[in-house]
Amino acid sequence: MHIVFIGPPGVGKGTQANMLLEKHPMVKISTGDLLRESIRNQSSLGIKAKGFMEKGELVPDELVLGLVQEKISTPEAGKNTFIFDGFPRNIHQAKELDSILTSLRSKIDLVIDFTMDEEERIIRLTGRRMCPKCQRTYHTIFAKPKDDTLCDVCHILLVQRTDDNEQVIRQRSVVYWEHTKPLLNYYGERKVLANVDASRPIEKVFSEIEKLISSKKKK
Ligand code: ADP
Ligand code: ADP
Ligand code: ZN
Repeated sequence: MHIVFIGPPGVGKGTQANMLLEKHPMVKISTGDLLRESIRNQSSLGIKAKGFMEKGELVPDELVLGLVQEKISTPEAGKNTFIFDGFPRNIHQAKELDSILTSLRSKIDLVIDFTMDEEERIIRLTGRRMCPKCQRTYHTIFAKPKDDTLCDVCHILLVQRTDDNEQVIRQRSVVYWEHTKPLLNYYGERKVLANVDASRPIEKVFSEIEKLISSKKKK
């Protein structure tokens, strides 16, 4: 079973994906995390991607698709449950994902569309803090670390993503409406789309997602 999380920046996709991983044997494929890792490693891909990410534009498809292909084309792929977080971001990526999965005799079974108001998302993103080592995310008000400014697990200082400033956040939202939102029709036609109200507390959203996944499994 493979799941896609779609939603504009700040709706809580990464938070929910990480919570699922803690409870269920799943593999998360977050292209944002993979790209930031490439930047940290100063790989040639990271160097190419950096400028697009700083401006809030999409990184070119061929770079992103290469990363995803590498992650999912493993002998265990058929047995794994993948959660795609922040991928695909446009129709071309969605079609490519379908063809990679078809070649692995697999498919997307569930797409969860996270929805909430833009101004609330900006409050979430400007308060977001990230652990530079394990990439866990926190929030200065809504999801505080135990020790104020340190990661609960790595005990190192949390940082703010350079693209989590209001101007770049607004640009990322524009990119979402233009390139990513059309995916809702794409997956709607395939009858795999479900929606969650992402404005509610973290635990409430989580239990709804778990329900959606278990009802899909029963089918
Ligand atoms: P996305 O991956 O969709 O961009 P994140 O999961 O990183 O979003 O969440 C954005 C910020 O909002 C983070 O700081 C996170 O701690 C916080 N957050 C996530 N879900 C909720 C929620 N349901 N209520 C309040 N804050 C949340
Ligand atoms: P958020 O958590 O705020 O939704 P991400 O971490 O998913 O943001 O993405 C951060 C940036 O990485 C995006 O603004 C974009 O530049 C790049 N990116 C991530 N995933 C993709 C993708 N699938 N295609 C193109 N660019 C991507
Ligand atoms: Zn950490």
